[in-house]
Amino acid sequence: MSDRSEGTAPFPAHLVREDLRDFAGYSSARTSAPGVPASIWLNANESGEASSADPGGANRRYPDPQPPALVEAFADLWATTPGRVVVGRGSDEIIELLVRTLCRPGGDGVVVAPPTFGMYAVSARLHGVPVHEVPQVDDGVRFTVDTGALATRARETGARIVFVASPGNPTGTVVPLRDLAALVEAVADRAVVVVDEAYGEYAEQRSAVALLEEHPTLVVLRTLSKAHGVAGARIGIGLAHPDLATVLRRVQAPYPVPVPVARLGLEALAPAALEATRRRVLQTLRLRDVVVRRLREVPGVRAVYATDANFLLVRSDDPGALLHTLASAGIVVRDLRHQPGLHDALRITVGTADEMTALDTALRETTA
Ligand code: PMP
Repeated sequence: MSDRSEGTAPFPAHLVREDLRDFAGYSSARTSAPGVPASIWLNANESGEASSADPGGANRRYPDPQPPALVEAFADLWATTPGRVVVGRGSDEIIELLVRTLCRPGGDGVVVAPPTFGMYAVSARLHGVPVHEVPQVDDGVRFTVDTGALATRARETGARIVFVASPGNPTGTVVPLRDLAALVEAVADRAVVVVDEAYGEYAEQRSAVALLEEHPTLVVLRTLSKAHGVAGARIGIGLAHPDLATVLRRVQAPYPVPVPVARLGLEALAPAALEATRRRVLQTLRLRDVVVRRLREVPGVRAVYATDANFLLVRSDDPGALLHTLASAGIVVRDLRHQPGLHDALRITVGTADEMTALDTALRETTA
């Protein structure tokens, strides 16, 4: 825990699992000889020659565990330092790393605010870690995260992580930055607060990245899987205090970012691609407004929830019939009926203009 390179307040080391505080992790061929000025590399048992599937040999060698150009590109995008960036196989991997790094196997705990993204609880369960729930408040048109209750629960249970998705999935709404800051402060001596901004590009609110400098125990997750349009590449990041980022990288499995994936990630973060992403986001928001109005006219639809994301949470008197109508038109939406409090709910992603036209046509069937 000594790689801190900035003048920020230290990360409270006691929040890291005691047995991992001095853990060096796996010493891979890439990490064991960083920056060595050699031209002949015989230390990783790779093939001497390229594959016929990759005649240029771009993939012949193991990648850098954290490809520097990609890390730099993320640091630039978030106006932060490379030391705070951990790149993973989607933000899913960062969630898992956080659980494994901060919670003892079979102990400690995490706090979540259901309905929320399922991987927080899955990662905790796979590590034997108790999951404490503080349900969101549902007023029929909007879900609200009770950050005060999350803080209380974390303190009562001694949990090590509080996970908050903002915008939430499947709820869609953001948690105000001041509430997030207050939550981080309220539990700073005992838990890390993870703000998952997978859908952040669709929201008007500023990113919680703005709070990182002042709050050593805050972690922000971002992903290239949603607005950036490269879900298939599986690239997500954690932005964390440099001390915590160092430990997370040591806990991570070797070579998490394959060579072609790193290249695609860099392309997605090039200025022209970022500009195109911004245009796509605006288009999605315009289409979303149209779909909201359309859905509100559908018989049996009781609520279309407020959303700051690229999807809509819909409650219907007969969700089965709605699902059936859409499925008959070849349209698959997310069935949420198995989730507590969502027995009548579906989640509909805002897709392309053509897809939304097809959705509109299918919905007309219900009005006909
Ligand atoms: N967080 C939230 C809130 C999500 O909805 C998702 C994906 N559904 C993820 C994280 C995972 O994203 P990634 O593709 O980066 O693993």
